Amino acid sequence: MIGAVNPDSFDILHSYSNTFQMPFVTPWFPEKVLTPSSGVVDFAISMRPDYHHAIIDTVRHYGWKKIIYLYDSHDGLLRLQQIYQGLKPGNDTFQVETVKRIQNVSDALDFLRSLEELSRWSNKYVVLDCPTEMAKDIVINHVRDVTLGRRNYHYLLSGLIMDDRWDNEVIEYGAINITGFRIVDGSRRYVKEFLERWRQSPAARDSISAQAALIYDAVFVLVEVLNKKKKTEKNNPRRAGGSQQPNTTLDCNSNHGWTSHGWEQGNKIARSLRKVEIEGLTGQIKFNDEGRRRNYTLDVVEMTVNSAPVKVAEWTDINGYQVVPTKRDRHPKSEILKNKTYIVTTIVEEPYIMERKYENGKPPEKMKDRYEGYCKDLADLITRKLNISWDIQIVKDGKYGSENPTVPGGWDGMVGELIRKEADIAIAPMTITSERERVIDFSKPFMSLGISIMIKKPVKQNPGVFSFLNPLSKEIWVCVIFSYIGVSIVLFIVSRFSPYEWRVLTIGSSRDPSLVSRDGTLQHSHGPQGSPHTQHTSMANDFSILNSLWFALGAIMQQGGDISPRSISGRIVGSVWWFFTLILISSYTANLAAFLTVERMVTPINSPEDLAAQTEVQYGTLQHGSTWDFFRRSQIELYKQMWRFMNENKQVFVNSYDEGIQRVRMSKGKYALLIESPKNDYINEREPCDTMKVGRNLDAKGFGIATPLGSPLRDSINLAVLSLKESGELAKLMNKWWYERTECRHGDKQDTSRNELLLSNVAGIFYILIGGLLLALAVALVEFCYKSHTEATRAKKLMF
Ligand code: ASP
Repeated sequence: MIGAVNPDSFDILHSYSNTFQMPFVTPWFPEKVLTPSSGVVDFAISMRPDYHHAIIDTVRHYGWKKIIYLYDSHDGLLRLQQIYQGLKPGNDTFQVETVKRIQNVSDALDFLRSLEELSRWSNKYVVLDCPTEMAKDIVINHVRDVTLGRRNYHYLLSGLIMDDRWDNEVIEYGAINITGFRIVDGSRRYVKEFLERWRQSPAARDSISAQAALIYDAVFVLVEVLNKKKKTEKNNPRRAGGSQQPNTTLDCNSNHGWTSHGWEQGNKIARSLRKVEIEGLTGQIKFNDEGRRRNYTLDVVEMTVNSAPVKVAEWTDINGYQVVPTKRDRHPKSEILKNKTYIVTTIVEEPYIMERKYENGKPPEKMKDRYEGYCKDLADLITRKLNISWDIQIVKDGKYGSENPTVPGGWDGMVGELIRKEADIAIAPMTITSERERVIDFSKPFMSLGISIMIKKPVKQNPGVFSFLNPLSKEIWVCVIFSYIGVSIVLFIVSRFSPYEWRVLTIGSSRDPSLVSRDGTLQHSHGPQGSPHTQHTSMANDFSILNSLWFALGAIMQQGGDISPRSISGRIVGSVWWFFTLILISSYTANLAAFLTVERMVTPINSPEDLAAQTEVQYGTLQHGSTWDFFRRSQIELYKQMWRFMNENKQVFVNSYDEGIQRVRMSKGKYALLIESPKNDYINEREPCDTMKVGRNLDAKGFGIATPLGSPLRDSINLAVLSLKESGELAKLMNKWWYERTECRHGDKQDTSRNELLLSNVAGIFYILIGGLLLALAVALVEFCYKSHTEATRAKKLMF
């Protein structure tokens, strides 16, 4: 009996075959079949090797610690059990993360999508146990699904399905990692000859599936046995089972040839089946006593770009997993075409691509001649190295590219054009991001950059008339005033307490204080009657509250007072205050010049933290670009907060950098743009020179040249970019388009040398001087009036 079976029919046929002792050769065996107890021959033999050890070794080789297991049949579950039992012992970290039975392709994809929602960035190792067609559909739908990741996926197809033809047209297979097993080794002579013969048939194909190869081999195994039997019967007709009619064919419809326990020849044939040793499509065919294959070899293959499977290892039941050195097909099948005009998509953005002014007013025929700029020069250099002809195509929607389910291909901008194959290369200031890398290929970066903040330059402020106050901050001034008052009070108290501050004073009976001079000496005076007065003694203290204030003020002004403390305690107060004022005034003087002469620029925003902490100055990014994406996906609290602000005030986003820069210039400092640093630097060097970059860069990344996945240009572009970088060509270009074209003068030399003070710088001190003098005059007048008034009243009193 020979035949392909499915899991449902196997059990019936298997038991028939054992009951009637009818040998049964099948290419398929369930994962775990109960073989009759030892000594009893199993009449079924399996052409397909039992290779779950190969799966185990492959998982081990890749070092996967977690796998996702998708299967579609009961057999798949049994296989998982075997795999788990093989992997788990002694490997505590190994886990089967999820197991899912799938009914169809959409089932699998829905499940993968749900995984993606749970964790988008983790690496996912999917062991897929299902028939070829289903596996192919799952993989291709995966690649074409925009919501599913690419490079973080690795499929291990556990069936022998790599022998099947994998459509070459579906080049996207290479976008995800696929590993599988192959049993037919196309490099063997036997297989080559077979395929050659087969190709001549009308139903020719250039490969044979594992299932077909196994059936093919099964037939030859049987033929071999029957031929052998025939031969022995011919040579030795008596020994040949005592059959009455050895040369007649067997008739299954009559009872002829059947014993009560089954077919009498069965046992013999079953035994000789196990002894067969032939070469087949599936390698050397040998069986063990249980009717299972031994000494077999499987190829472990990985799918590359353009769906070219490459053998990476060999697995044998004797030696296990053995890596074969492979030279990966660096250059994909398709060639760089010399007679094709490659379409380079790009975006109009100063100074990368700018429209050129034509001499005679007529635009040149070729699009590429209508533009100039850094990227135009870069494209020239690269295409010259690649020796290809090219032309520019400006991106239709004017965007760089981000995920957008509403457009075909799921991405807009230049990325979308590459995905939809509307362009072959993108040479533009396009940032390399992981999201984009999943759907297109990037070269190594040709420019490094980061997100930076652009604000309008604040107007320079001339030092005001009271700028002499600026060297010390307001708080310091307040502290100084309090210290001054505090010191005066302490000095007053100390002088009151300390006995050494008191002096004995001998004065006349007159109570007129004006008779006692301030240094305590008695002045001779004459009473109204001209007679001298009797003398008294009393205690005097110089440090009244007013005198204390006067003393402390004198020290601040670096002037000596006419009084000074005599007690030790008073002198301590004096010394610390003098020390204090010495340092204070020195610091003040050191700072003064700078504050009086320099025009200062006060920037309200100096860092992303400043931006996030306020709402007065609005800030935004370019819509649908990498910067926008950076904030959208950021996990850092500061940037998340900034994203919340921007997302709630959607009007802060701009559609082009030009619009954003215009907005910065027109908004009187109330709008800041988050812009990539090279563009920021460039704009700050352009007239009207009213913008500036503040703060550090928020991240570090690079611009890359992009190509569609699997493009033959990719490797050559990569090499070209690297060699341009190393030869300094890129630095030259940067110089040409950034620094040589600067339109802003930096800090006029004469201005800085001319730093004498102007009246406006110091007008404040004149104001204070004049104010003080006027106040003195006024006070003098008040004093005079007051004194004359008191004198007059006293005179009046005396007269009456
Ligand atoms: N160069 C950026 C991009 O590739 C533009 C941006 O700042 O978003 O999307």
